[in-house]
Amino acid sequence: MSDLPARPLGRLGDVEITRLRRVGERRGAELAELGLRTVLDLVQYYPRTYVDRSRRAALDEVAVGDQVTVTGEVQRVSARRTRQGRSLVQVVIGDGSASLTISYFNQPWRERQLTAGAQVLVFGTVDDYRGTRQMTNPVTDVLVGSQDAEAGTPSRVGRLVPVYPTSEKLSLSSWEIGALVEEALRRAGPVLDPWPAEVVSSLGLVDRSTALWAIHVPRDQADQQAARERLAFDELLRLQLALALRRRQVELFGHGVAHRVTPRAPGSEGDGDLVSRLLARQAFVLTQAQQRVLREILDDLAAPVPMHRLLQGDVGSGKTLVATAALAAVVDDGFQGALMVPTEILAEQHLASLQRDLGDLTRHDAGALGGRRGVEVRLLAGRLGAAARRATLAGLATGQVDIVVGTHALLSESVQFHRLGMVVIDEQHRFGVDQRAVLRDKAWGSQEGTVDPDLLVLTATPIPRTAALALFGDLDRSVIDELPAGRVAIATTWAPTPQAAAAAWRRVRSEVAAGRRAYVVCPLVEEGGKVEATGAVAEFARLAESELAGLDIGLVHGQMPAAQRDAVMEDFRAGRLGVLVATVVVEVGVDVPDATVIVIEDAWRFGLAQLHQLRGRVGRSTWPSWCYLLGEAPAGDSQRRLEALVATTDGFALAEVDLELRGEGAVLGSRQRGRSDLRLASLVRDAALVERAHHAARDLVATGGADAPAVREELELLGEDVAYLFKS
Ligand code: ADP
Ligand code: MG
Repeated sequence: MSDLPARPLGRLGDVEITRLRRVGERRGAELAELGLRTVLDLVQYYPRTYVDRSRRAALDEVAVGDQVTVTGEVQRVSARRTRQGRSLVQVVIGDGSASLTISYFNQPWRERQLTAGAQVLVFGTVDDYRGTRQMTNPVTDVLVGSQDAEAGTPSRVGRLVPVYPTSEKLSLSSWEIGALVEEALRRAGPVLDPWPAEVVSSLGLVDRSTALWAIHVPRDQADQQAARERLAFDELLRLQLALALRRRQVELFGHGVAHRVTPRAPGSEGDGDLVSRLLARQAFVLTQAQQRVLREILDDLAAPVPMHRLLQGDVGSGKTLVATAALAAVVDDGFQGALMVPTEILAEQHLASLQRDLGDLTRHDAGALGGRRGVEVRLLAGRLGAAARRATLAGLATGQVDIVVGTHALLSESVQFHRLGMVVIDEQHRFGVDQRAVLRDKAWGSQEGTVDPDLLVLTATPIPRTAALALFGDLDRSVIDELPAGRVAIATTWAPTPQAAAAAWRRVRSEVAAGRRAYVVCPLVEEGGKVEATGAVAEFARLAESELAGLDIGLVHGQMPAAQRDAVMEDFRAGRLGVLVATVVVEVGVDVPDATVIVIEDAWRFGLAQLHQLRGRVGRSTWPSWCYLLGEAPAGDSQRRLEALVATTDGFALAEVDLELRGEGAVLGSRQRGRSDLRLASLVRDAALVERAHHAARDLVATGGADAPAVREELELLGEDVAYLFKS
């Protein structure tokens, strides 16, 4: 084996799985259904778990009530229908010590899957049916199919038995997959280690070939863990390297517009620039944190490379004004700015506040523009009529419009800028991954002869540091870690009973009577859209007749005509309406400082991040504020979410809880799912490994090690075109 030259892992992707000895057409099709088409797919198809054969419970030891993993050989299978018409497959397994009956309801395929002689691994709770121990619908893996057993006792099953994910509907057993993996590994021969040997050894990692064998055929636990660490590290390092190289690319080749922006100190007096005048007219002064991050942003704008900055700040920390100041700086230097937001309500709000803050301020080069007045801010959103839309597009193309605010409509092809200087994305976590990619291209794509605009990404979703590194390792980060002075923590109550809810409605009444405002958020409906709107209309009518009778109540939902919705928002803002009944359209960004109560119905249906955002609609002034979470919650995660929310208003703490409860795939969006990026690595469990990969990537880029052909080939495993990241 060792006389074979080591091959880069990626080359195994060129070998079709059907080239393996035991894979014919039918097997090939089944494997394809598991996403396995090449030998590379196969060797990276890691076991879901391992069973330690020395630790399994024997069947005569398990008692009713135990939650256990047992293995056994299928002895008898029978299938019938129950009196209620449900399909029932019953299987008896034995392990020499005793036997156990397993009942599968509504899983008719089990009859084909579990044939006599197959060895199965079963995880579930033992119950008692008419005096007999049995299990109902347990998690079941076929370790060795009956046909495999006939082919001879599998020799490869050591002490730790790998359990491969397989679909119940396929006839493939975990053992068969394992046997194919082993054949693939044997035929592949030694696999090249793409990283410099010093890096691997200084991090105490095993080499790649060893790791690939040991993850599939571990001798013992330690063996398997070392393998996992190595392979997880590789996944993280690939990602971090791509990010670090992208960053280098921008620094080397980005044609920043930034150096044309005059360096300035925030709030500096005298020069009368737009930023100073904008800040001077606010009713408050910037917090220390706002000043610091604005300083960082203005420094970026004055630097010769384009800015790539993530501005993180908890909900209500005052990101808008910082972004507005940055836009003002860019406009002051003769460039255009674009502000992209996830909802139309938010677009309207930003449009209004930008027009209020900047609309009447004159740029210092106004003379050169023929004495043009003020900063021209326009909206680009789905609701615009054709004529208005054309006018805005024309203004952007000629440079008449300085700032455009819009939803994802901004991403459409027809939007052309005269001199786009900066793109700001607000509430970026609400944008889909695909939209993010388009924006990144629009904002960053270095087409010949064009300039890269600066990019500022705002998010309130506090991403834990490890996740931020994995997702935004190529962005600089500014953090607003302080709320404006005088904010009082929002008193949060979980009110599961009608009596407790009554207190919430009393609070709504007393606050509205005192001149403040309240939101009532309607339950989330799974189907969303029209159904949600209908629910909101009904709830609005119900509340107006019952709990909130006599108050001035408005309603907004996503299916309303835009003009009507804007009018309601305006009435609420101005205080003509005391209560706003709303669907989640108010989830992000909406800023009505006089609102002090938010009542969230059926709160358990909302995600933790979403609840935190909704709660952030209040507590935006120096008034005390309240948040009421109504409704009972199913035991488990739903309750833990509500409890966490009651316990803290700190978004970072909540993000950690969220990551723990849901896992990173769900938290970070689809990026990590369905892609080969992270199969083993976990951002929660492997926080330390993420850090190590981050530093290793930086070092490799700094020392030039990243430009080695092996590294380049390795990054192709990410499945993106990475050629442009390299020097030659
Ligand atoms: P977010 O960071 O959630 O986007 P906003 O920018 O909407 O927060 O700001 C929340 C509220 O705080 C707004 O009403 C805003 O006018 C106000 N605000 C922003 N900065 C300050 C400050 N330095 N002092 C007092 N209030 C501020
Ligand atoms: Mg905001």
